[in-house]
Amino acid sequence: MPGLDAIRDAVRKFLRLSGPYERAVEEFIRDLQRALLSADVNVRLVFDLTRRIRERALKEKPPPGASRRDWFLKIVYEELVKLFGGDREPEVKPPYTPYVIMLVGVQGSGKTTTAAKLALFYKRMGYKVGLVAADVYRPGAYDQLRQLAERIGVMFYGEPGSRDAVGIATRGVKELKERGANIVIVDTAGRHGYGSEVALLEEMKRMSEAIKPDEVMLVIDAAMGQKSFDLAKRFHEATPIGSIIVTKMDGTAKGGGALSAVAATGAIIKFIGTGEDVEEFEVFNPRRFVSRLLGMGDIEGILERIKRLEAAEEFEKTVEEMLEGKLNFRILYRQLRQLTRMGPLRKVLQMLPGVGLAVTDEIAKLGEEKIRKWLAIMDSMTYEELDHPEIIDKSRMRRIARGAGVELDDVKELVNYYRNLQRMLRRLKKQKGALERLLRNIGG
Ligand code: GDP
Repeated sequence: MPGLDAIRDAVRKFLRLSGPYERAVEEFIRDLQRALLSADVNVRLVFDLTRRIRERALKEKPPPGASRRDWFLKIVYEELVKLFGGDREPEVKPPYTPYVIMLVGVQGSGKTTTAAKLALFYKRMGYKVGLVAADVYRPGAYDQLRQLAERIGVMFYGEPGSRDAVGIATRGVKELKERGANIVIVDTAGRHGYGSEVALLEEMKRMSEAIKPDEVMLVIDAAMGQKSFDLAKRFHEATPIGSIIVTKMDGTAKGGGALSAVAATGAIIKFIGTGEDVEEFEVFNPRRFVSRLLGMGDIEGILERIKRLEAAEEFEKTVEEMLEGKLNFRILYRQLRQLTRMGPLRKVLQMLPGVGLAVTDEIAKLGEEKIRKWLAIMDSMTYEELDHPEIIDKSRMRRIARGAGVELDDVKELVNYYRNLQRMLRRLKKQKGALERLLRNIGG
């Protein structure tokens, strides 16, 4: 069973395969579709995804210096991130305390284990956590949770032998709060005594009305595939689901079902379980998840490269603007900011074969520390001063220095630098031939 793991191989193949770009793209898209479908990602989502990827690949232009293959993979990356929950880094810190979390999900999904994982996670964040064993139907659930609570060192409440789930939950939440817990996690049944789902959902509803949880988390087994979509909906109707935990992401390459199902319901995935141990649990981060799908080593290098090239492209535009004779502190500010975003200055120069010219050289010679200081100085200038640097006299310099918390000499140095740069640009402009050569060079 290939599943999501096959995506990594598709990336490798795409980067290795020689031959025309278009053919490599088509082949990659086919591999991607196959991998996603075999991982149970919803068919419509898969085709929407690959259509968007194709469209963007045709329409968008890579920044100068980027290879088309790198650029294509960046598009794939971004679209996959969107598919698996977008840019939202889940907020896992409770907005207030005490905070009651109710865990729901079918039997075997890993709920009890997850209750302990979650408790340990919050304990490590510095909270006082308590666990309530309210799964009264599965034999052994009480002992399992009690032992786990002991092992990870959190408070515990349970009533062995009792079948009054709602009562246990109510008393447990109350008692643990009294004992000082500021996060209480309630483990519930995943299967009702008679095996009836209706009865289970009914019980969840009554429990939720009784304890009024601050958040209901649905626990879903990654291997459940498409079925998890309907399940999530049914639970959601009984007790509004605030967030989702997908368990057993380690055991299957087929997690696509659970992932795309929850993406389609609008609830966000907060955590994933990646093993049987209580330590094997992490905050779900779509970006990191997709990076891993694509092959961490390959994709991160590509994304980093493109980010720099994009910053370099912006930078070149500003240089062009300067060569047209426009210069003021606003433009200089923008340019220095771009420079700081491009990464280490030494690398920047290597990346800008086109603009490896006087202007860039001049700016690149500045240290990063100085650039930051100058940005701070320009931050204390008025708009008027930014647009018309020539009005900056001694008394304005003094005010600017005070505002930025620097010496008067620092401001003077920046103003002198600006004047030199301006003189240099005028000279360059006069040398028409040189200018044309420079402009031709811009863009590599
Ligand atoms: P419950 O019935 O929902 O309470 O499920 P349990 O917590 O008892 O877990 C059922 C089984 O799944 C146990 O064998 C757990 O060790 C296992 N399990 C839970 N979470 C994970 C996970 O993230 N990865 C793996 N591989 N196994 C898990």
